[in-house]
Amino acid sequence: MGIHEFPFSTVIPKDCPPTFKGSNGENKYEVEVLTDVPWRFTSKARMEFTVNKKLVLPEKYWTDEVTKIRNIKSGYIFNEGPISVKMTLPKVVFQIGDSLRLRLDINNTSSSEISRFSIHFFRLTHYHSRHLSVPCKSPMNCPMCPSSRKETRQRFGKISDFDFHVASHSEGSKVIDLGIPMEATTPSFESGLMTMRYYICSYVWVKNGLPIWCGTNKIYIGEKKEKIKKPSKGDAPPDYTP
Ligand SMILES: [Zn+2]
Repeated sequence: MGIHEFPFSTVIPKDCPPTFKGSNGENKYEVEVLTDVPWRFTSKARMEFTVNKKLVLPEKYWTDEVTKIRNIKSGYIFNEGPISVKMTLPKVVFQIGDSLRLRLDINNTSSSEISRFSIHFFRLTHYHSRHLSVPCKSPMNCPMCPSSRKETRQRFGKISDFDFHVASHSEGSKVIDLGIPMEATTPSFESGLMTMRYYICSYVWVKNGLPIWCGTNKIYIGEKKEKIKKPSKGDAPPDYTP
């Protein structure tokens, strides 16, 4: 009779992905407690808990500028020179609400005038029907057969759509400030069962024409995992002297 407390603890594996709920699968963590009393029904209680994860990425991902160049030749400008779009990101890892200053340099060697540029964010969630020993590098190189994998692409945040005039056979540059949308609540993660990746997708608009896709830039969303500082000799307490 009475109330009895039985404290317990366990270690969550380092490689477990964070809590996540998607349209094709979810990572859910629960603790289940069973009470086994002789000659009585076994009673059971469950409670869900959340697992967060900080990113373990090379140091340069937080500090180094990244540049990507794409040369576009579409039906509009088939017999003309390409439109070269150079996108420069200040780094590749961001947190929700961060500002992302993106630089665009366009070299238009086509005979068409460029009028606008659009950018949006999207996330890609990739699922496997069984656990692989390592995450796949990208859905394009997935070793699973099509019936054993699934993907969800979802656009989120506002589309950034702005005037950007670059006349035929000329160059133009622009700096754009984008905010990382508040919807990016789940950190980027990769596991043998599920991966969650974020991208920036961009389009260039030729005057009086349709938008032309000019590539994606992969970014990471999440907090940095701080290195555990090993105590140096200077931090050690003085030797004991009686
Ligand atoms: Zn895969």
